[in-house]
Amino acid sequence: MAHLANQTSADTIAQFDQYVIGNYRRYPVCLVRGEGSWIWDAEGNKYLDFFPGWGCNMLGHCPPRIVEAVREQVGQLIHVPNTWYMESQGAFAEALSTRSFGSQCFFCNSGAEANEAAIKLARVHGHAAGRYKIVTMENGFHGRTYAALTATAQPKYHAGFEPMVPGFTYVPYNDLDAVAKVLDDQTAAVLVEPIQGEGGVNLPSPDYLPGLRALCDERGVLLILDEVQTGLGRTGEWFAFQNYGITPDILTCAKALAGGVAAGVMMAKPEIASVFKPGMHASTFGGNPIACRAGLATIETIEQDNLLERGKAVGERFRGHFEAIRAERPDLVGEIRIKGVMIGLELTIDASPIVAACLERRLLINATHGNVIRLLPALNLSDDLIDEGCAILADVLKSYSA
Ligand SMILES: *Cc1c(COP(=O)(O)O)cnc(C)c1O
Repeated sequence: MAHLANQTSADTIAQFDQYVIGNYRRYPVCLVRGEGSWIWDAEGNKYLDFFPGWGCNMLGHCPPRIVEAVREQVGQLIHVPNTWYMESQGAFAEALSTRSFGSQCFFCNSGAEANEAAIKLARVHGHAAGRYKIVTMENGFHGRTYAALTATAQPKYHAGFEPMVPGFTYVPYNDLDAVAKVLDDQTAAVLVEPIQGEGGVNLPSPDYLPGLRALCDERGVLLILDEVQTGLGRTGEWFAFQNYGITPDILTCAKALAGGVAAGVMMAKPEIASVFKPGMHASTFGGNPIACRAGLATIETIEQDNLLERGKAVGERFRGHFEAIRAERPDLVGEIRIKGVMIGLELTIDASPIVAACLERRLLINATHGNVIRLLPALNLSDDLIDEGCAILADVLKSYSA
């Protein structure tokens, strides 16, 4: 299949060196085509992808029903502004609301924007009562715009960008006492990832989210869940909170929300959402028909193919492989942290050489937080491909010493 320029990876890399700002660390490979959990580079090499689209392509590359929905939509309407009603946005909002907590939706295009909207809504909601402070968790990740970056309690991401936005307080993740201590009558909201992604795939202890919910209720504080990474099926439920028996006041989602098409959403309980009046917040491209059609097709695919159940099974199959590796190499492997297709394997060594060695073997994985291998595979990854990729990973790991 022809791709845009039909040039080599080296040509494209040279073009980037001259014309694209160097704010990303990139692998020296130009990807041109994908199908399911396979992806090809400009030289025709084929890779098994356990990290498709950085978690955005939760149905794999180019899932047929999303491709079809987008093709149909671009022939009807590409974009109309939010000064008009559009069927796809209403239908997508209803589909999300009925699968979550009876929320109302504000659409945007990314995770950071969804969190900006959540922070702004929480502040407007608390304004009359003088509540403006936002509490977030150390090692969390909420995005790169200023408020989302300030909410991201990791000094390495703030360095050089100071001063940050005022009114944020940080406490350790999984520590209810620390939250209880900092909440006061100026606190508007607690913002937390139910499972920390970038921070190392950190799972909440069983009492953590229920405890946060209870604390917020007692102190009149809103609970905002950042489900940008965990949302729309990643954990084997539509949203991670559904694993833990609680309901948020506000929830944000992006990454996998529209099958790989750029989309973000902030969802809020209607009585909270109602403080946003016309003109108070906006996004030009938010809720555009292409993203909403893609999002609807994503939900349909997950339901028709029973992929929430499949996601749980995929996670458990990875767990079996990881436990076997750990049994053989307890010196190398620490905690195994898995919820559906949100998968972390803690190592006792730096994980980045493992990623590079797997790339050599044409297996795409990710490392985060230094020593954690993170996989965000597709919900519809087959058993055969899980076994194939895990055999490569096991092989690579075994060649390292602690
Ligand atoms: C990726 C991510 C974000 C930021 O999303 P962008 O689309 O890059 O702005 C925010 N929160 C979490 C939990 C994420 O994983």
